[in-house]
Amino acid sequence: MRLTAVKMAGFKSFVDSTIFKAPTNLTGVVGPNGCGKSNIIDAVRWVMGEGSAKVLRGESMTDVIFAGSSSRKPVGTATVELIFDNADGKAGGEYAEYSEIAIKRQVSRDGVSTYFLNGTRCRRKDVRDLFLGTGAGTTGYSIIVQGMISEIVGSRPEDIRGHLEEAAGISKYKERRRETERRIGHTRDNLERLTDLREEVD
Ligand code: ATP
Repeated sequence: MRLTAVKMAGFKSFVDSTIFKAPTNLTGVVGPNGCGKSNIIDAVRWVMGEGSAKVLRGESMTDVIFAGSSSRKPVGTATVELIFDNADGKAGGEYAEYSEIAIKRQVSRDGVSTYFLNGTRCRRKDVRDLFLGTGAGTTGYSIIVQGMISEIVGSRPEDIRGHLEEAAGISKYKERRRETERRIGHTRDNLERLTDLREEVD
């Protein structure tokens, strides 16, 4: 799975519709101070389901919407779409057969985000699941931001293990196990409630 384009509109400094193309393997973004390099990276993380405003260098999630400038009024919606080449079929499950995958996230001033996978509305979880074990995604290592290398080097063994698990592709199975355990827990609770009710009726 390779990122080939980032389409932005109303996102941070990219108020007008902008397409950032990555025709070959992207290793870095260079440009003058304040031109929007980090905003592009923020856009990528945001679409992958980033839920922390702090990670996106803001205070609230609506801070990603263009807030206006001396010559332009603020806008009401931010939209970013990521286009991935999936010729290697690395996107698993039902998406393995698609040669191109488009993931879109939109947010308006009420703070509600909507996600789309190849044009069909989906949940944030569907987007996050797609990236689990690929090295991309919010917990992945494919985006190395400033300070991340020293953070990884100095991090706790369990966090280093998290990175290794992502690289080895087992993090998605751990996530699925956690989900299944949560569901089993809920089912157990429901069963206990049912037993209580039955005893009351008997
Ligand atoms: P540096 O090289 O200094 O790190 P950079 O190229 O990474 O800079 P960014 O941090 O991506 O630059 O962009 C900063 C610009 O984005 C600033 O001019 C800031 O005002 C603008 N900006 C950020 N959020 C918004 C927003 N919500 N609305 C309008 N402009 C914004």
